[in-house]
Amino acid sequence: MSHIAFIGLGNMGAPMALNLIKAGHQLTVFDLSQQALAKLTEAGATAAADAKSAVKDAAIVVSMLPASAHVEALYTGEQGILPHIKKGTLVIDCSTIAPESARKVARAAKEAGLNMIDAPVSGGTAGAAAGTLTFIVGGDTAILEEARPILSAMGKNIFHAGDSGAGQIAKICNNMLLGILMAGTAEALALGVANGLDPKVLSDIMSKSSGRNWALELYNPFPGVMDNVPASRGYSGGFGVDLMLKDLGLAAEAALFARSAIPLGELARNLYSLHSKGGSGALDFSSIQQLLAPAK
Ligand code: NAD
Repeated sequence: MSHIAFIGLGNMGAPMALNLIKAGHQLTVFDLSQQALAKLTEAGATAAADAKSAVKDAAIVVSMLPASAHVEALYTGEQGILPHIKKGTLVIDCSTIAPESARKVARAAKEAGLNMIDAPVSGGTAGAAAGTLTFIVGGDTAILEEARPILSAMGKNIFHAGDSGAGQIAKICNNMLLGILMAGTAEALALGVANGLDPKVLSDIMSKSSGRNWALELYNPFPGVMDNVPASRGYSGGFGVDLMLKDLGLAAEAALFARSAIPLGELARNLYSLHSKGGSGALDFSSIQQLLAPAK
């Protein structure tokens, strides 16, 4: 079993780290939040005082941070940890960030004698807790094979998208589609309810019809339709509106770069942007239902 340093213990990182402990690994963890650290130390992890001390003796480093700026600062910033990681260490960044940031950090890691892959995930907080995440990997095949047993302790499906940054591109495409599907699902439910339908009955009908999709069936945005989803706990936990907005921004950048048209992705970005500006940035992204509320 390996000594793993795990950095970033938020909605996703905490359950992923717990699964590594369950698989028998020894974890040293770090997060800026004391509350997040406490949850992991209760489960048997050792809390480090800072990121540098967390990685000092680790054979493997895993990070799960919000966005590009956090990942770049952690690895290559002024106080970056790359010089403090032992040569030959496997480094896995699971955050969703810009492909160019992933490439930049992987290049710097390689120069420091480390083996790094980008491995963003899909499957949400439920998938993280159940250990059924999908990993979408960018980087060398040999490094992916080295990482496979660790990824398997946290997920069910492991895809190799291509070189460094490719995992991020695939993840950005997926999340743009997810943002569009969630907004569309919320809009359809609001329309049905405004016209007198029960949202649960309508969800059951659409789940067995051609409108079926992941947001409707597994992450229903209408409160009371489904247990154990953010909509049924005041849109708390889950995947934040501002994180979805970040991913739709990454999709817009990728579209500009490749001269690709993403009209629905841009519309979804504007909807989540309005919703965030209205004060809902920290709520789960399915709260877009509140923006598209049924007419009273
Ligand atoms: P989160 O905001 O819940 O957690 C991020 C954690 O990182 C926080 O605990 C924060 O304190 C910590 N952090 C920030 N900067 C740090 C630093 N410099 N050092 C140590 N800790 C630091 O976010 P999340 O929902 O866990 O998402 C993490 C990543 O996973 C994001 O890139 C997101 O887009 C992606 N993602 C999230 C979901 C989801 O359903 N939540 C699903 C797939 C992918």
